[in-house]
Amino acid sequence: MTACPLPLPAGDRVLLGHGSGGKLSADLLRDVFLAAFRNPVLARLDDQAIVSINGLRLAFTTDSFVVKPLFFPGGDIGSLAVHGTVNDLAMGGAQPLYLSAAFIIEEGLPISVLRRVVASLQEAAAGAGVTVVTGDTKVVEKGSGDGLFINTTGLGVVADTVRLSADQARPGDRVLLSGPIGDHGIAILAQREGLEFEGSIASDSAPLHTLVAAMLAASRDIRCLRDPTRGGLSSTLNEFAAQAQVGIEIDERAIPVREAVRGACELLGLDPLYVANEGKLVAVVAPGAAERVLAAMRGHPLGREAALIGTVTAVHPRLVTMRTVVGPTRIVDMLSGDQLPRIC
Ligand code: MG
Repeated sequence: MTACPLPLPAGDRVLLGHGSGGKLSADLLRDVFLAAFRNPVLARLDDQAIVSINGLRLAFTTDSFVVKPLFFPGGDIGSLAVHGTVNDLAMGGAQPLYLSAAFIIEEGLPISVLRRVVASLQEAAAGAGVTVVTGDTKVVEKGSGDGLFINTTGLGVVADTVRLSADQARPGDRVLLSGPIGDHGIAILAQREGLEFEGSIASDSAPLHTLVAAMLAASRDIRCLRDPTRGGLSSTLNEFAAQAQVGIEIDERAIPVREAVRGACELLGLDPLYVANEGKLVAVVAPGAAERVLAAMRGHPLGREAALIGTVTAVHPRLVTMRTVVGPTRIVDMLSGDQLPRIC
């Protein structure tokens, strides 16, 4: 007798999809964590907490990395652990300064692998101008982990004049994207499954704080920034729409996707809007500042292919819609389920 393929109802157990960055992650965050930790800083639901200590505005964030495999084209768990946390600081307009690095190691991991990851983490930190100033090491029995997990916490300072938060998007604002989407998720998937695609696909993993600095130098009329990592561009736009109680309309033709990534997505039945990125950002900017900010992005090596992809609207609050290549408009919902587990 064959087993019934129906999915189990999402009830009393954690599912892989709860780590996807989409709908299930948002449910878990709301029902378990926000319910317990309720406070005004956390309630802003930005990528980082910004707290004031003796008048100094500090950005503070943490992220755990469980990517599988540990090494992939364009990076590894070490460089990713730096870029992910640096970017969450940068999305608050912070200058990233210090990192912690905690390693949860499975018994049996070759020391040579650990050395390689640590060297890569240090190289990425130096490249991003941050220093690893504290850390931790734990070892779990063989079978209790999957080689190596890393947690990094980041600390940075935010200038007094910088106020970026997802709830600031206003109808009429423009939505900018810093470059082609989907590279990271597809690169990980290809490496994990041993798939080969037409054209090479590498992770876009990169630190974005200097791109943000260039954008802020061009205009202070930037409302909010976010890096579309897990859950992809669709989840980031839905988060903006929910937090600011606005609608967002995007144009599919304006969204850059590399040919190789588009081809891979078609083959695998994936939508690039839901595939993770590790070196891209989405900006919501005041209409009058859009051109200047876009020019500043294109003048930076990590924003050369930046594009204006949409507009914030009052018409359908909390909803993201997309005018498709073929004409009609469709709703772009948050990722549901787990499209690609363990991509970061
Ligand atoms: Mg983020």
